[in-house]
Amino acid sequence: MRFVSTRNMEATPVTFPEALFRGLAPDGGLYHPVDEPDLRTVVRSLGADASFVDVAGAMIQGLFGEEYDAAAARALAQESFPFEPVLRPLEPGIDILELFHGPSCAFKDFGAGFLAATMEAELRRRGGRAVVLTATSGDTGSAVAQAFHGRDRIDVVILYPSGRVSPLQEQQLTTLGGNVLALEVNGSFDDCQRMVKEAFGDSEITAAVPLTSANSINVGRLIPQSFYYVWAFAQCKDEVEDELLFCVPSGNFGNLTAGVLAWRWGMAVAGFIAATNANDVIPEYLRTGVFTPRESIHTLANAMDVGNPSNFERLQQIFGGFVPATLLTGRGVDDAAIRATMADVYRSTGMIVCPHTATGIHAARQRRAEEPGSDMRIITLATAHPAKFVEVCEDALGVSPEIPSRLARLMERTKVALPVDRSAAALKKVLLERFSYST
Ligand SMILES: *Cc1c(COP(=O)(O)O)cnc(C)c1O
Repeated sequence: MRFVSTRNMEATPVTFPEALFRGLAPDGGLYHPVDEPDLRTVVRSLGADASFVDVAGAMIQGLFGEEYDAAAARALAQESFPFEPVLRPLEPGIDILELFHGPSCAFKDFGAGFLAATMEAELRRRGGRAVVLTATSGDTGSAVAQAFHGRDRIDVVILYPSGRVSPLQEQQLTTLGGNVLALEVNGSFDDCQRMVKEAFGDSEITAAVPLTSANSINVGRLIPQSFYYVWAFAQCKDEVEDELLFCVPSGNFGNLTAGVLAWRWGMAVAGFIAATNANDVIPEYLRTGVFTPRESIHTLANAMDVGNPSNFERLQQIFGGFVPATLLTGRGVDDAAIRATMADVYRSTGMIVCPHTATGIHAARQRRAEEPGSDMRIITLATAHPAKFVEVCEDALGVSPEIPSRLARLMERTKVALPVDRSAAALKKVLLERFSYST
């Protein structure tokens, strides 16, 4: 499988390892697969008895057959995903695909796990080291930190805005130690992002430090997210009477794009529902044909507070500019509906769902209500464990979610972070002093 930039389809394609370590294409575009693998036979061969590793292994081999034979593909799947998704019925016609059973308790563990495993394998093969530099407002950083912790030949440097991530998120970023260095910046998330950007643009730094990124646009994070769609599809394809749809709580639209890729490669679903919070730029686009990025607004589902979704470029690429309304519909869900859905789901099932998952459930229920006679079945992705959003749950439900032991243990560990001033010079000093491997 080879990749080109969304901004220049005529350029010479790059290999998967190249796209992996570059992250963003040199022209500022996103890498996108040029090849259109036909995996219909692979998808059809997977049944309800297939484990997640079976599915991931088959998909890796189908997509990267030249690099991985069956045994190597399976080994990579095992190495990347020491956790599994869970599919659970919610109510007639709606199932929940829980993607939060990994170390950081959010679906980003799937992308980060595969990215870390493939980068490590590639560095072992060709030698050298990599320094993963990333800014986080919370969720991405914790998944990346967990996935890369203890990996050979890789250091991780994570910048986070002091006082502006939740206490749990801060513990997730700062208590791992080893090859994970947390930089506590006395500024905002935007400051952190700017500092990272300037480091990548500083030739003195890039000559000495083998920098790479791990942000959500990396193909190494995008592609593995297609695997759980195929797994869920395999779980229920034989029982679905009519139509099967996926409903995806979305912010930057990486998760949804991965589902659309799975469809493109041969997963025969009827369509996708893009559920956003009040930042409904894409639902608006799907309704009107006009894409109007805006400043993001703060909502209860804050991991989806995105006003200019970066993967819009990829969706356009996939569909040649026009996203077909038959395959993809969108819905914006406001805070009042998120809160009401959390409360209603708790009352009717006893299940506590996070605000992002509630966004998806609300959109799925609306869709079913519009077609009352149909046997459509909607799989709604549960993107995070409710324990990551204790305050929102307490406020909406009056009860606290149970804290998984892997999160509870973190709260007891000691925070270690290096305070850093919000300037490019301060970051440069740290990088050159600690990570000058190339000189
Ligand atoms: C990142 C995140 C999302 C949004 O995913 P995208 O791929 O950016 O659309 C949704 N929910 C949770 C909990 C997240 O962490």
